[in-house]
Amino acid sequence: MNRPGPPQRAEPREIVELRRLKDDQPDLGSAIDLQIALLQLQRRVQARVPLPSINLEGAALDAALAGGKPILRFEDVPIDWSDARFLVRATADAMRAHEAIEPEDYRRVETLTRDSAQLPAVIRSWYESGRPGAADATPEAAGLEPLLQLAMRPFLSRCADAIMARTVFQNWTRGVCPLCGGEPDFSLITPAAERLLICGRCTARWRYHQLACPFCANADRSRITSFATRDGLYRLYACDVCHRYLKAYDARHAQRSVMPVVDTIATLPLDAAAVQRGYK
Ligand SMILES: [Zn+2]
Ligand SMILES: [Zn+2]
Repeated sequence: MNRPGPPQRAEPREIVELRRLKDDQPDLGSAIDLQIALLQLQRRVQARVPLPSINLEGAALDAALAGGKPILRFEDVPIDWSDARFLVRATADAMRAHEAIEPEDYRRVETLTRDSAQLPAVIRSWYESGRPGAADATPEAAGLEPLLQLAMRPFLSRCADAIMARTVFQNWTRGVCPLCGGEPDFSLITPAAERLLICGRCTARWRYHQLACPFCANADRSRITSFATRDGLYRLYACDVCHRYLKAYDARHAQRSVMPVVDTIATLPLDAAAVQRGYK
């Protein structure tokens, strides 16, 4: 009797979508290739990251959130330092291959990953400086934020997935992430027209005012500029007070659910439009 071979592992949906996007928009090819490389890297580590070391009972989480401060301390993030070193190094390599990192910053990463004492200190500084009211990152971390955000994603998104399975952050009304204190870098408009912000660091999602600017809390409708792509799938909210902007996936017009790793790339032309209008 012929036995079937081992089943072929299907490509993750995000990678399938990214390849489709590349066919549709070849101009985005380099950004898409980099994103696929990063996803493949992150998946190698993600599967073995343990649960965070905080009390995961829903009631305990809600009590912690009621304090109004982000609840995931650096000590709670389940980081394996040899995995972290690998991710920082490999993320820098992938970014260099796609010309997405300055040569000077690449050299700094090389030095950093050779020093086993310095890497944890730099990552802690990056994590804590992103929290509201915190001191700036140390000079060793300054400028490396985009890279560290990508490299630490497997550890932080594991925490976000575990915690989001147990709470919806009901009473959290702030523009910063209830878990890690990071800023949103994308958002989702639900079919019920609610807006969820998506953390750029840990990928947690939380409900926020439909229109207000999460960066400065400006809620004056006349000082928010909003525009959509022609297909209605994506929208951009720009604040005329602090001049920052946030993109959104509009699920009211969508066939699939939001995929931040795909949708942030698909909307790069929107970023260009926002920057051209003076937003950042
Ligand atoms: Zn977060
Ligand atoms: Zn603002």
